[in-house]
Amino acid sequence: MSELAGQVALVTGGSRGIGQAIAHELAEAGARVAVVARNGERAASAAAELPGVGHGGFSCDVADPEAVSETVSRVESELGPVSILVNNAGITRDNILLRLKDEDWEQVLDVNLRGAFNLIRAVTRGMMKRRDGVIVNVSSVVGLMGNAGQVNYAAAKAGLLGLTKSVARELSSRGVRCNAVAPGYIATDMTS
Ligand code: NAP
Repeated sequence: MSELAGQVALVTGGSRGIGQAIAHELAEAGARVAVVARNGERAASAAAELPGVGHGGFSCDVADPEAVSETVSRVESELGPVSILVNNAGITRDNILLRLKDEDWEQVLDVNLRGAFNLIRAVTRGMMKRRDGVIVNVSSVVGLMGNAGQVNYAAAKAGLLGLTKSVARELSSRGVRCNAVAPGYIATDMTS
């Protein structure tokens, strides 16, 4: 029950769907959870609904490196050093290849892939100093298999796997683990 007591977990996209369930499990295990999403009110109410105390909601667009850096500083001053990072925030902008717009490509890559990079870069200096950190990136079965109508999303999710493996190779000797999960279909706002 209190396996993660004293630890701070930052969950991007923790206000809804899969991220909200992840935040709940981490809170149940005793962690203080920073729920990060663009909609700050929703993030705050999701944080308030978590079991236990010491959680917080934070408004941040993970695609914006400066906002991410400021948010990680706020989380660390309000909740404590982040020892668990879950890069779960994600979006889709689906269309067949020939109809995909430049902004559909850019937004999906910016949120799903660059967002994870932004967060990892912002939290790992502290994790390496403390020789203690766990990073979990939420990829997708689509990143492994590909999917018609989702070339942008599949590319971002496959990129996330390369990012994960490289971060693991770079930081495992410094006490920081980095893994990915690749879920299949789960009914959420994203899939509705
Ligand atoms: P969801 O219900 O649409 O929730 C997405 C979450 O991400 C929300 O909290 C949203 O909050 C946040 N978010 C979106 N863009 C953001 C940004 N730029 N900055 C910060 N937060 C942002 O999605 P979900 O289905 O739970 O998916 C969660 C993750 O699982 C995603 O990475 C998705 O690709 C992956 N996944 C989902 C499925 C599935 O079948 N559902 C399958 C495999 C993988 P705001 O809108 O307030 O920002």
